Amino acid sequence: MQVLFGGTFDPVHNGHVAMVDQLQVTFPGATIHVIPNNRPPHRDSGVSATHRLAMLQLAMSHLEGIKINRIEYERPGPSYTVDTLNGLREFFGNDECLVLVLGADAIRKMDSWYRPKAVPLLCNICILNRAGERVDIPSVLAEMNEITDGGLLDNLSSGYLIRLQTPDLFVSSTLVRSLIAKGAAQLPVPPNVADYLVKHNLYQDTK
Ligand code: ATP
Repeated sequence: MQVLFGGTFDPVHNGHVAMVDQLQVTFPGATIHVIPNNRPPHRDSGVSATHRLAMLQLAMSHLEGIKINRIEYERPGPSYTVDTLNGLREFFGNDECLVLVLGADAIRKMDSWYRPKAVPLLCNICILNRAGERVDIPSVLAEMNEITDGGLLDNLSSGYLIRLQTPDLFVSSTLVRSLIAKGAAQLPVPPNVADYLVKHNLYQDTK
C-alpha cells in the first residue's frame, strides 16, 4: 500500500508531522509518501520548492517508513495531482493500492481541479475529517464506494473512499508565516525547521 500525502508545505509544521504519525498508525506497513508540489496550481508560494523540500526533509528525517517523494518537485510546470497519479501508476503498476490523502480544503476545491474525474479511477481517497467537521463529497467523487475499515483497502487498488477522523490541530502554514512576519519567538514547527527558517531568513516579508 502506498499512501500519498501531498501539499505545498509552505512551510511544513507540527500539524503535518502529527498527520504523518496518524497515517502510519492508520495504515500500518504502508509506505507514506510525502509529496511537496513544485508549483501549486491554485496559488503562489513566496519560497522556492527547494527550500520547502529541504524543510520537509528536516521535519520527517527521523520517521521510519516515510519517503519524501520528489515526483512533483522534479516535474516542471504546475503540479497536477492527476499527472502524479499517472506517474505513480506507471511505477507501481495497476494492482498496487494507492491512497491519496486529502484535507477538507482540497476536497472542497476538487471540482475545479485539472481532470478531476480521472482521480477516482487511479486511486483510493482518504479524507482528513477534522474534529467536529463533516466534509461533503464533491460530485466528481460521487461514484466512489465509501468504506469505514482502512484494513480492507490493502487489496483494493482504486475507487474506494475512507474518512479519517483527525484531531483539530490549530496550526497551518498560513499561521506560521504570519507568526514569522510578526517576529514571534516560538513557532509550531520542529526545532530544526525553526533553525532553517532563521538561517535563510524565510517568510520575513509575509503580508
Ligand atoms: P496553508 O495554510 O498555506 O493553506 P496548510 O497548513 O493547509 O497550508 P498544506 O501544505 O496546504 O498546509 O497541507 C498539506 C496537507 O496537510 C493537506 O492535506 C492539509 O489538509 C493537511 N494539513 C494541514 N494542516 C493540518 C493540520 N493542522 N492538521 C491536519 N492536517 C493538516
